[in-house]
Amino acid sequence: MSENNQTEIILPATIIVRDLAKSIDTSPIQIIKILMANGVMANINQQIDFDTAAIVASECGYEAVLEAAEEEDLQEIGEIPHWRQMISEEDPSKLVNRPPVVTILGHVDHGKTTLLDAIRNTHVADREAGGITQHIGAYQIEAKDQKITFLDTPGHAAFTAMRARGAQGADIVILVVAANDGVMPQTKEAIAHAKAAQVPTIVALNKIDRPDANVDFTKNQLAEAGMVPDEWDGDTMVIPVSAKTGDGIDDLLEAVLLVAETNGIQANPDGTVLGTVIEAEIAKAKGVVATLLVQNGTLKLGDIIAAGTTNGHIRAMFNDRGKAIKKAGPATPVQIMGLNGVPKAGDRFQVFDNDKEARAFTLNLKNAAKIKKQSAPRATLEELFLKVQAGEEKELRLIINADVQGSLEPIINSISDLGANSEISVNILRSATGDITESDVMLATASKAIIIGFNVKVDNAAKAQAASERISIRLYSIIYRLLEDLEKALKGMLEPEMIETMVGHAEIRAVFNISKVGNIAGCRVIDGEIHRNAKVRITRDDEVVFTGELSSLKHEKDDVKEVKTGWDCGLAFKNFTEFAEGDTVECYTVHKASHF
Ligand code: GDP
Repeated sequence: MSENNQTEIILPATIIVRDLAKSIDTSPIQIIKILMANGVMANINQQIDFDTAAIVASECGYEAVLEAAEEEDLQEIGEIPHWRQMISEEDPSKLVNRPPVVTILGHVDHGKTTLLDAIRNTHVADREAGGITQHIGAYQIEAKDQKITFLDTPGHAAFTAMRARGAQGADIVILVVAANDGVMPQTKEAIAHAKAAQVPTIVALNKIDRPDANVDFTKNQLAEAGMVPDEWDGDTMVIPVSAKTGDGIDDLLEAVLLVAETNGIQANPDGTVLGTVIEAEIAKAKGVVATLLVQNGTLKLGDIIAAGTTNGHIRAMFNDRGKAIKKAGPATPVQIMGLNGVPKAGDRFQVFDNDKEARAFTLNLKNAAKIKKQSAPRATLEELFLKVQAGEEKELRLIINADVQGSLEPIINSISDLGANSEISVNILRSATGDITESDVMLATASKAIIIGFNVKVDNAAKAQAASERISIRLYSIIYRLLEDLEKALKGMLEPEMIETMVGHAEIRAVFNISKVGNIAGCRVIDGEIHRNAKVRITRDDEVVFTGELSSLKHEKDDVKEVKTGWDCGLAFKNFTEFAEGDTVECYTVHKASHF
C-alpha cells in the first residue's frame, strides 16, 4: 500500500530494448536481465510493447506513461463507477444473491487473527481442491451451504485506506471484543469506522473460554459505546465465541448469513465486471501479483483490465487455495497476474473491451489525481455551510480531541445539544483525549469529517496528511468559541476562518504630544516592516493593550506606506493614545484560511 513515488517516464506503444535502456538510463544488459526474470527472452534490438516496457521501467524506479497519441478519447472515459452504484444501475431482474463480504475489526490482541484462522480452518469452501491455504488478503468459506467472503487483513489501516478511497468493500463488520479485556480504544475506533461507513456490525465476544471472561460487564461497556445488544432491546447481535476452542463460531457465521439476508446483498454475474483491489505487490519471478475482489460481473482469464493507475491482461488467475481458475463471479477473491504496475489497496478495477480504453482510463485517473490536488478543501466548516444551503448535506461529522476527559465531556454534551436543536444532525465519530494524530486525519478523510481540537496540538504527520487530504482541523482553547463556530456552521452563518501573517514589530521609544494631532509614538522597527494599511496590536509585558489600525505612519516629516527594519518612524493609532514607552507594536495582516 506504499505510495507510488516513482519518476514518470513517457514511452511509446512499442520500443526497442536499446532505446528503452537509454530513456531510463540503465544498461541494456540490465534490461535484458529484468526481461528474462519476467519470462521474456529479448535481445538488444528487439521491439517490446508498452506493457512489458512499463514493467521493466517500474523495476528501475520509473513509472511509465503511454505517449500522448493514445490520450485522444480521454474525455469519453469517465471514472470506474463504485460497485454499489453499478449494481443499483443493473436490471433488477438480473440481480442474484451473492456471498456477503465480511471484515473483522477490533482491539489488538483481542483475537482477530485467531478468529479468522479458526473460521477458515473449520469451513474451507473447496475441500476437493486440496490446495494449500494461500494468504492473499481474502478468502471464501462455506457455512450452511452458503458462501461467505472474509477480508483477511485485520486492522483499521486497511479498512480506512479502502474507505478513504470510497471503495467500502465490506458488507458486514465483525467487531471482535475480548470478554476478559472489554471495550478498549481500538474497539471504539472500530465502532466509529463501522458507523461512519454505515456497515452493519456484529460483535464477536471472544475468549469466553477464559476464566476471567466477563460477558455481562463487556456487554454493558458495549452498550455505553453505542452498541446495545439485541437481547437488551438494542440492534446489535452479540455472539459469545472462543476463537481458541471454536465455540460459538457456527452461531457467528449464522448471524452473518442472517444479516446478509436482511440486507439483500446482490450482484449481476453477467453485468459489467468490476470490483476492488484488496492488496498488490511485486513478487519475485512473478511480477505484479494483485488480489482482487470481484463485486459485479464475472472476471475471466484473458480479460483486459484497468486497476487504479495500472492496466493489463489477466495472464493467470488463482483462488485462495492456490488453484488456477478461469473465471470468478461476484464476491470471489482472486489473485491475478498481468498488471503493468502495483495498484493500491482500495483502488477500483474494471474490465474493458480493449487495451486502448483500459490505458485511457489509467491515464484519466492520473490526470484526475493531479486535478484533485489543486482543488478546494474537502471537509471544512465553510464547505459544509455551502452544502447545507444547497440541501446536499444533512449531517455534520466531527472528530473531537481534548486535553483531558474533564473538558471532553462538557464539549460533547454541548455539541449534542446544539445538534438536537438544529436541522442538521451532529455525528461525533470519535472523541478522545490527546493530540491530533494521523489516525484522526485518516478517519476524517474516510468519513468527510472535521477535526476539532481543544487545548491540544496537531502532530507533524497529521498536519502533513491533513494538508494533502485537505481536511479541516480547527483548534480552540475556549469552549464558547468552539460552540459559537459550530452553531454558526449549523445555521449556515459561519465566517471563513481567518489567519494572521506577521509583517513586523516596532518598539515605542518615546511618546510625543503634538498640539492638534495628539499623542504620537516615536518607534524603531525591530524586525520585518510596518505597513500603513495593515492591522496593529500593542503589547505591554506580553499583555495586549490595543488591537486596531494605524491612523498615520510617518518617516521623519513624510507620510509613508511602509517602514523597514532599523528605521525610525512616528505612529498614531485610530482611537487609541494610551500607549507608553517600551510597548511593542505588532503589525500583521489577516486573510482567509484555506484549511486549518
Ligand atoms: P489480534 O491482535 O486481534 O489479531 O489477536 P490474536 O488473534 O493474535 O490473538 C491474541 C492472543 O489471544 C493470542 O495469544 C491468541 O492465542 C489469544 N486468543 C485469541 N482468541 C482466543 C480465545 O478465544 N481464547 C483464548 N483463551 N485465547 C485467545
